[in-house]
Amino acid sequence: MNNRFRTRAVTSAPSLRSAWITTVAVFVVLIAAVGAIALLGLRHQQHEFTATTGELQDTTEAMVVLERAMVEVFEPMLDYLYRYGGDDGIAVAWERYVERSQDVAQGFDVAGSALGDGPGRAELEEAREHWSAVDAAVRSSFDDVSDAELRAVLESGAEDPFLETVWEPHDEVDRELAAVRQATVAGLGDLVEEADRTGTFVGTFVLWSLVVAIGVALVAARRMSRRVLRPLAEVGRAAGSLDGTEQREPVEVPRAVAEVRELARIVNETSVTMRNHHSLLRTQARTDSMTALPNRSGFAEALHGMLDGADRGRVAVLFIDLDDFKEVNDTLGHAAGDEVLRVVALRLRAVTSGCEVAARLGGDEFAVAFDVGSDPTEATAVAERVRLAIAGSVDIHGHQAVVGCSIGIAVSAVDATSANSDELLGNADFAMYMAKSQGKNRYELFSPQLHTEVHARMELGRDLTEALQRDQFVLHYQPVVNLPSGELLGFEALIRWQHPSRGLVAPDGFIGLAEDSGAIVPIGAWVLDRACAELAGMHAEAPHLTMGVNVSPRELVVPGFVQGVVETLARHGVAPGHLMIEITEETAMTNTRAGADAIAALRSLGVHIALDDFGTGYSSLRYLGDLPVNEIKIDRSFVNSRDPHSTSTMESIVHLAQRLGLFVVAEGIEDAEDLDRLARFGHIAGQGYHFARPMPADEARALAERSSLRPVATES
Ligand code: C2E
Ligand code: CA
Ligand code: CA
Repeated sequence: MNNRFRTRAVTSAPSLRSAWITTVAVFVVLIAAVGAIALLGLRHQQHEFTATTGELQDTTEAMVVLERAMVEVFEPMLDYLYRYGGDDGIAVAWERYVERSQDVAQGFDVAGSALGDGPGRAELEEAREHWSAVDAAVRSSFDDVSDAELRAVLESGAEDPFLETVWEPHDEVDRELAAVRQATVAGLGDLVEEADRTGTFVGTFVLWSLVVAIGVALVAARRMSRRVLRPLAEVGRAAGSLDGTEQREPVEVPRAVAEVRELARIVNETSVTMRNHHSLLRTQARTDSMTALPNRSGFAEALHGMLDGADRGRVAVLFIDLDDFKEVNDTLGHAAGDEVLRVVALRLRAVTSGCEVAARLGGDEFAVAFDVGSDPTEATAVAERVRLAIAGSVDIHGHQAVVGCSIGIAVSAVDATSANSDELLGNADFAMYMAKSQGKNRYELFSPQLHTEVHARMELGRDLTEALQRDQFVLHYQPVVNLPSGELLGFEALIRWQHPSRGLVAPDGFIGLAEDSGAIVPIGAWVLDRACAELAGMHAEAPHLTMGVNVSPRELVVPGFVQGVVETLARHGVAPGHLMIEITEETAMTNTRAGADAIAALRSLGVHIALDDFGTGYSSLRYLGDLPVNEIKIDRSFVNSRDPHSTSTMESIVHLAQRLGLFVVAEGIEDAEDLDRLARFGHIAGQGYHFARPMPADEARALAERSSLRPVATES
């Protein structure tokens, strides 16, 4: 993975260090070159000036000397000739001339060397030639003329023979020398012009060098930005957004300097490493370490995916909970429990194919999710397959742990999305709970109605815990009469719940809940107390009346139950023989030792025991003699029935009971026809809407007062 970045970084990229050094070096060289060239130019110019002015000085000095020599060359000679013209005058003048003409020759030599080959040289040579002519003419004059002749000429006032040949060439020489001066000055102008050109050149050169330097600086800045700053910013951005969560393109800086490319490579490598770590962590966070199945979050993620998936069929979720797993832990130890979970995971994995997601949600809870397409009933088939796969024993060091599970099934709505996933899992959980409550080792399919009912029940269950303190219970009393006379024998106390929002709730709606939660124990105690209090009141007018009180099996087994009954009877001064404890056939048959003991104890105290709803439970006719009861209450399904078979069953029951000396009460006599069918049984008691519905306490009391006078039946 690293090679990709490394190979790129290796291709020769200039380093920032070398780029920087190059840039600085270019600058230094450039500036040094500019400085050197400018310096050389100035030096050259200065030199030129110095040379020019030196030359000018030499030339001027030499020319001055020459010109003075020229002016003075004849003066002493003539002076002598014209003023002292003696006998040896010519010889003396000659001497003086020779002296001075040597100065002239020397002046020419000096001027010649001062001028060199420069301008004015030609003019000087011409002047020298003319001078030679003058000199030759003067010399020949000395040769040709004697002192005497000269004196004669001078005395006659004639033209000077001596010099007349000289003046003209002498003038010529003067002109030539002037030309020399002129040429020298002209040459000087050229030199100045040249020096000027050098100055201009140096200035231009410096200016251009500056332009080039600025250009180089701009290019360097551009390169710096392209190779360093921009790539660095890009790498910086990439580094700043490193979080390892998402797949990102590696940052590429092909034009950057080596250091920045190295930095980019490190950032890219770090990104890859972080991503790998992150995905490892993600996987770990979504996997259950014990079973290697997805855990709760892994399952949730998979479920989201299925619900939002493209083909959007319906998704079924199985919520699986092992039955009695706690027992395995408690009896075989936690290591054994872990082993069971691992085996269950293997079995689950084996039975769920690729398209299904199996997970361990935690503890002994597992879940499976799968697409059910358009046929939701497929879900139950899968649930059964899973249930059978998981069920079986697990060998733990020779001990066999029996494994089974309860499964709740929930199927998503057609338009469900991942937003519904929690709800779906919750529904499956709920259905699992229902499967548990219906006997375990089974599956249950979630339905909204069931959910609503159970929820209502649960709500009611919560309210129930407070109903007693809030005094929300009341007792209604239903008369029990002698047949066929209708004479009042007593009442059965029937509880009602005055629910603050639901109104009067019948016992079928909450007794089961109270039994489940245990609330039935204090409620039952309250019923017994209220019923006895009421009966005691009635006894003032009609002391023969009895009171039936329904008791749940759960109450019977509570220690101290019998003691409680005794105390209640004593508290209200009711004789035990007037209390009728009604237990169901089922209770009597299956009750525990404690229950049986309680019944026996009550009976020995003189309390009457009635077998309620007789005929609905066990076909227990043959056990009837063994049951510890004084009375049977025949279920209203027989009493109401127009079916001859039911009637004959009822007939057998009544005859058998009568033969065993048990008192018989027919429940649910709703009309005269029901009453007629019972006529042939002779002395039995009855209870039903035909005589009276369960009624509030005050009405029951009023009825009790009148009962001493006449039977209820004659009233309606
Ligand atoms: P149960 O002991 O069999 O009580 C008789 C039920 O039949 C009463 O219903 C009564 O109203 C009803 N009934 C009476 N005559 C007729 C009739 O002619 N036709 C019809 N269709 N029904 C008739 P209720 O009051 O709703 O009580 C239902 C059950 O609740 C009782 O059945 C009893 O098992 C239980 N129960 C009532 N009060 C208590 C109590 O205080 N403790 C316990 N543990 N259970 C109670
Ligand atoms: Ca009853
Ligand atoms: Ca009954």
